[in-house]
Amino acid sequence: MIERMEPQAMTTFRRRRFDPAISNPRGPGIQYQCEICGDRLDSCSEHAVACSCRNLVLDVDAGRISAKDPTRVCIIEGGGGQELKRSQQQGG
Ligand SMILES: [Zn+2]
Repeated sequence: MIERMEPQAMTTFRRRRFDPAISNPRGPGIQYQCEICGDRLDSCSEHAVACSCRNLVLDVDAGRISAKDPTRVCIIEGGGGQELKRSQQQGG
């Protein structure tokens, strides 16, 4: 009997610090998460959005992301809503 290694659920997204001093990346799969309320904002939003506690504000018109407390914000890359899950079933 061959025991197959089950692939671990790998987290493909990367988290990094939000730094308002440098340009804020925007694009598909890039999200900003407020660590205070836990809300995530899509960087590709077409309109201005803010998190529940208003710490994180995505100002689309100005093309920037501002935060009252940048140390409590992180950028999540590759965290888009698409989750690829492979499930293989072999009859037998
Ligand atoms: Zn918040």
